Amino acid sequence: MTSEFDFIERICRQTLVRKRRPVGLTRGIGDDAAIIKQHAEDETLITADLLVEDVDFRREWMPPRLLGHKALAVSLSDIAAMGARPRFALLSIGVPHSIFRTTFLDEFYAGFFALADYYKIALIGGDVSRTPDRIVVDSIVIGEAKRGHSITRAGARPGDKIFVTGTLGGASGGLRLLMKGARLTKKSASQRSSSLNDLLLRQLRPEPRVAWGVQLGIKKLASAMIDVSDGLSSDLAHLCEESGVGADVQAARIPFDPLVMQVYGQSAASPSPIDLALNGGEDYELLFTVRPRDVVRLPKRLNGVQIAQIGVITKQRRRIRLMENSRARELKPCGFAHFR
Ligand code: ADP
Ligand code: MG
Repeated sequence: MTSEFDFIERICRQTLVRKRRPVGLTRGIGDDAAIIKQHAEDETLITADLLVEDVDFRREWMPPRLLGHKALAVSLSDIAAMGARPRFALLSIGVPHSIFRTTFLDEFYAGFFALADYYKIALIGGDVSRTPDRIVVDSIVIGEAKRGHSITRAGARPGDKIFVTGTLGGASGGLRLLMKGARLTKKSASQRSSSLNDLLLRQLRPEPRVAWGVQLGIKKLASAMIDVSDGLSSDLAHLCEESGVGADVQAARIPFDPLVMQVYGQSAASPSPIDLALNGGEDYELLFTVRPRDVVRLPKRLNGVQIAQIGVITKQRRRIRLMENSRARELKPCGFAHFR
């Protein structure tokens, strides 16, 4: 690539927009702004996520392809957490000159478009600029829901059951290993190294729960929802705060990521799976509440992803308790925070 104009031209050729114009899109990449048609019966959802090198990822352990995947995945997760269907994306990237000359961007966009094509997301714009030495990525996703079907954090009521998709703790379990020097390998020779790779991928290649988000929104099954990006203890606190309620969580029902046990074993020096599941971030699972009468209407699994009922919403505002062997202790929000 010689200039950013070649670069935009090349991205433009890869986006879905050129292959077949997505429903609802009047103008994609190539003008001063994209144009989307509005439908009176729908509502539009917009979210942005910033990934900063050495803060949100490390170049030495994050292959460019997976960075492209993750940049989109985290924003798809936010739209899914609103019960909406993601439709369009804008991706802005700042890279140092040395990176612009390599295959980094080709690989980055290969990862981005693989995920975008899977969920039929059209890239409709973005920007590119030069940075002094670190990579910065800004990912924006636009979604849609039928009017009144979006699910906020604020709708939980006492008595609602609390659910979570998939498993928890894997992403932070993988992050700890990366910080200790573990790296992804191409070919895994043994069972252990393949479990290790899978655990690292929980951190490096999150799967957004789009199918679950969309179903919960369409069927109006969830009363409140949030994605687990900071950690269960923190994200449940956000949901309870917004809903003006409390929660009791059953420790025994929390779906630990089995890979954590497989890779870490049971040495006392390792982090406990429960601690990673409660306070580790970036699992990008969906945490949601359901009215008791609606629980029977929940699908058992979607796209191979199950859900677990982990507790119940209570009346007392902000009191979140972890119930362990019939003892209750206060669950403090100890998940990730940039500025603490
Ligand atoms: P402007 O100077 O008006 O921002 P640009 O040359 O940056 O114009 O952008 C021209 C078109 O290319 C716009 O449609 C813009 O959204 C798109 N574009 C620029 N950079 C990217 C990118 N990284 N990814 C996708 N589209 C991009
Ligand atoms: Mg521009």
